[in-house]
Amino acid sequence: MRCLVTGGAGFLGSHLCERLLNDGHEVLCLDNYFTGRLQNIAHLRDNRNFELIRHDVTEPILLEVDRIFNLACPASPVHYQFNPVKTIKTSVMGAINMLGLAKRVHARILQASTSEVYGDPAVHPQKEDYWGNVNPIGIRSCYDEGKRVAETLFMDYHRQNKVDIRIVRIFNTYGPRMLMNDGRVVSNFIVQALKGEDLTIYGDGSQTRSFCYVDDMVEAFVRMMDQDEIIGPVNVGNPGEFTMLELAHAVLDQTGSKSKIVYQPLPGDDPKMRRPDISLAKKALGWEPKVNLFDGLQKTIEYFKTIV
Ligand code: NAD
Ligand code: UDP
Repeated sequence: MRCLVTGGAGFLGSHLCERLLNDGHEVLCLDNYFTGRLQNIAHLRDNRNFELIRHDVTEPILLEVDRIFNLACPASPVHYQFNPVKTIKTSVMGAINMLGLAKRVHARILQASTSEVYGDPAVHPQKEDYWGNVNPIGIRSCYDEGKRVAETLFMDYHRQNKVDIRIVRIFNTYGPRMLMNDGRVVSNFIVQALKGEDLTIYGDGSQTRSFCYVDDMVEAFVRMMDQDEIIGPVNVGNPGEFTMLELAHAVLDQTGSKSKIVYQPLPGDDPKMRRPDISLAKKALGWEPKVNLFDGLQKTIEYFKTIV
């Protein structure tokens, strides 16, 4: 099949492009390089089934494809808050343009949605039928609400135009090829530990997240697209739940770093806890994560050692 991956030069997108090529597909990698990099896909460029397109998803594009994986959107709070108006345009106009394309060529299309649709959740762990607790006017809203509107657009194109959609709600995912200055917690702590700098915990470090290794996430994307039973939304993530203080200590232990932990102010609207209920993914996709936090951190630390 010919697969379009928007945001294909980013962290998750580059791993997905690689997997799809390995599975024998043609891959069109579309990116505007806001947070993506050519280095992430440099090793794929000699593959005759791989094609690069510099394009912004907020603009329409005409392509002939069988499948679309819509990943284009900065994912780190630091980057999505840099130009919030652009972030919401990317989610909303990007969804409209990609759904229009899917409708025209009858392609199956997957939306990379997010656990952020649950906001600062009042229900724990989060199940797909929870509608969330999202501030519509805060500093995270450009991302959270943009992704919520994108889900609405996907459902409406499905109901109104019979577009063949899939929606996955991705919980915090980490691994090699995250940017050194990505700003998300796993890469921040690892880079700080390897450089001997202080590890910056925002708030008191009691807030929790559930961290999924990238290979497990890519497997979930592929399974979601390869089945005909459900359109989603489906939670995909690792249900192991850790406080940021626990994560900081794990990174210090595994790097052997002598860095200290320092505390900085908690950014606005930072969710206090997050853990996916993945019963639906287990049942419908036969999927659950295989890589635990220790092993995933080890692989990620090895990667950052080569570039720090
Ligand atoms: P990333 O920032 O590494 O990748 C995003 C990619 O999209 C980058 O290559 C960037 O250049 C590209 N992009 C941004 N705006 C664009 C635009 N207007 N037009 C074309 N390309 C554009 O982030 P990631 O972690 O790889 O996330 C990929 C997708 O998964 C995003 O949609 C994100 O919201 C979603 N997601 C990721 C996580 C996670 O923990 N990694 C969690 C939830 C959801
Ligand atoms: N965080 C932190 N130190 C950092 C970066 C992030 O303590 O250097 C915290 C952040 O406040 C949040 C958690 O780690 O509570 C996860 O942050 P991240 O930006 O990785 O993802 P998100 O908040 O979108 O889940």
